[in-house]
Amino acid sequence: MPTAASCASNAERNHPCRALPCSPAKIVTNVHSLNADLHCHSTVSDGTLSPEQVAQRAKDHGVALWSLTDHDEVAGQHRAAAAARAIGLDYVAGVEISVTFAGQTIHIVGLGIDPDDTTLRDGLASTRHGRSRRAQAIGESLAAVGIEGALEGAQALADNPEMVTRTHFARWLVATGVCRDTHEVFRKYLVRGKPGYVAQQWATLRDAVHWITGAGGLAVIAHPGRYRVSANEEWALLEQFKAHGGRALEVQTASHGDAEVAKYGALAREHGLLASRGSDFHSPGESRIELGALPTLPGGLTPVWSELQSRIGRAA
Ligand code: AMP
Ligand code: MN
Ligand code: MN
Ligand code: MN
Repeated sequence: MPTAASCASNAERNHPCRALPCSPAKIVTNVHSLNADLHCHSTVSDGTLSPEQVAQRAKDHGVALWSLTDHDEVAGQHRAAAAARAIGLDYVAGVEISVTFAGQTIHIVGLGIDPDDTTLRDGLASTRHGRSRRAQAIGESLAAVGIEGALEGAQALADNPEMVTRTHFARWLVATGVCRDTHEVFRKYLVRGKPGYVAQQWATLRDAVHWITGAGGLAVIAHPGRYRVSANEEWALLEQFKAHGGRALEVQTASHGDAEVAKYGALAREHGLLASRGSDFHSPGESRIELGALPTLPGGLTPVWSELQSRIGRAA
């Protein structure tokens, strides 16, 4: 009889130890209304909860299939998978890669990746490279308008020294009383044309999609409603994304209102893309939408999780 301990190290989905409490329930991944939350962050990037705390919070809020998708980093993946397994939560490994496309920053989520894939890890390391220099430049830009100490403040709030993000600067600007909340920060600072904005060249769309697919994952365009691109550029993004092997569009996400959900649902159907759902949760009290709390996908879409069954638990 297998033990719970042997179960934790067993990668086979059909092993008899799946009946033990440590094993996630066998979910039916073609269920349209499945409470899947396939986009969120931990202290490994710009979230404020550890991977283990996010796992527990996802479970507590009714998530049935979870993915932690930290920015440009997979260092939290084994912790997330182990934590999920310990509480009987189905897990697929994830990442959110920063990409420069048409002069804009675009985010590409990878789901069901092998987090140990060398090409993916090297690609993410090269994407993170340059963040320290950028953080320094952000600090200097804020100092130029009289806000001193921002770099040190942001660094102190970042668990991962390679991942000092604008979110950490935003939290410091709130903590020091410069702004009321992070929404105000991203109106007045850190965005194009405002103090603290520093342009950055991220990965190419082609590289990001290839790193994800090369690691056995499905590539998803994150929160498409957030990009300030023309209709032509948006069409080009979808076509090029598909040509590189991209598979899905995030339709339900915190930054989409009803109009964006309808628009990107229609575009997913039109372009033959799968549909994803993810809260983009970063922090209690800061994130607009709680883990697992988004509405279900609109009808007529094929959920991305219909193709994730074989990838569940792989990172454990
Ligand atoms: P970075 O990768 O350093 O450019 O930081 C990007 C992060 O800043 C995103 O992942 C979000 O978490 C956060 N962010 C960007 N724009 C906004 C916004 N308008 N409101 C709140 N957070 C934002
Ligand atoms: Mn973020
Ligand atoms: Mn994003
Ligand atoms: Mn995100």
